[in-house]
Amino acid sequence: MERVYNFAAGPACMPEWVLKKAAAEMTNYHGCGMSVMEMSHRSAEFQEIIDSARDRLKRLMNIPEDYEVLFLQGGGSLQFIMVPLNLMQHKADIINTGQWTKKAIKEHKKLGEVNVVASSEDANFTYIPKIKQEDLSADSDYVYICENNTIYGTKYKQLPPHEGKLMVADLSSCICSERINVSDYDLIFAGAQKNMGPAGVTIVILKKSLLDIADQDKLPSMLSYKVHADKGSMFNTPPTYAIYMVGLVCQWLEEEIGGLENMEAINHKKAKMLYDYIDSSKLYTNNVAKEDRSYMNVPFVTGDKDLDAKFVAEAKKAGIANIKGHRTVGGMRASIYNAMPVEGVEYLIDFMKKFEQENA
Ligand code: PMP
Repeated sequence: MERVYNFAAGPACMPEWVLKKAAAEMTNYHGCGMSVMEMSHRSAEFQEIIDSARDRLKRLMNIPEDYEVLFLQGGGSLQFIMVPLNLMQHKADIINTGQWTKKAIKEHKKLGEVNVVASSEDANFTYIPKIKQEDLSADSDYVYICENNTIYGTKYKQLPPHEGKLMVADLSSCICSERINVSDYDLIFAGAQKNMGPAGVTIVILKKSLLDIADQDKLPSMLSYKVHADKGSMFNTPPTYAIYMVGLVCQWLEEEIGGLENMEAINHKKAKMLYDYIDSSKLYTNNVAKEDRSYMNVPFVTGDKDLDAKFVAEAKKAGIANIKGHRTVGGMRASIYNAMPVEGVEYLIDFMKKFEQENA
């Protein structure tokens, strides 16, 4: 069977270039006679792999010198509690834009006070609430957002006001999809399994000065950013193969794509093609506020549950995998991460047109 176009929300499609390179290096990495999976994390070979992955990510994202880059485990979900454990002294201001901020709110509340600054739950999270500086608590330590909401297909196009506060953002489903100014943030985290590689490694980028906030005597070692930073992300055995794959994805972004400026242009092109078609179609709709539409996750419905199910089934037969929407939204969702080529989106649109004609 040939490869399909995989529109999964994560774990998601990977660049074929990366898969082929990993396959070629699988049994004998650079002549060392073993796979990266079999290497000691203390070996010179693996040290080079993790250093190069970190350096490539720093170059790609233009990460300033006063930021630390960590490769951790536990997914985005562990960050929902690691962030407050390490940074929260008084209170957190969280903007609720869906399931992933709800979970962060729930975890934060186990440790302290949360101010839910605003929420778009009233409209099933189809927009990004706009807030003002006055809406923030006087005594909060940080403003927390989920920048791209994987389930609903919404995206912050600019950060909310956060004067005098730290800015914390979950970039799980949009990291490296566009250029960002890292110094606008104090802490960024992202599970790798959408835009950066396989599941199993979580990237945390944080200002070095934040490492000194928490009382290290009270913090469990594995949950301390400082412990991981001091040990170069090797306090314990890191997810070695996943880190290697992140390094290959970064190499692909640098050498094959030509950096995040090019990646951003490709992603905007793909998203525009799909939204333009959906907006022009009589069958499909995307309910997200236009200014808040995600470049990565594009949910759409036909308005008829049976027809949605038929779409998903026929798409699968046509080599379009994992196009079913999240159960809380229904319909379909096309996740068009970095690794989804323009041709994949063209193929999807052609299929959608044909389905529309046949089911008008
Ligand atoms: N944040 C966002 C935006 C996500 O999409 C997800 C997972 N899809 C998570 C956090 C949770 O990540 P994990 O499953 O890696 O814990």
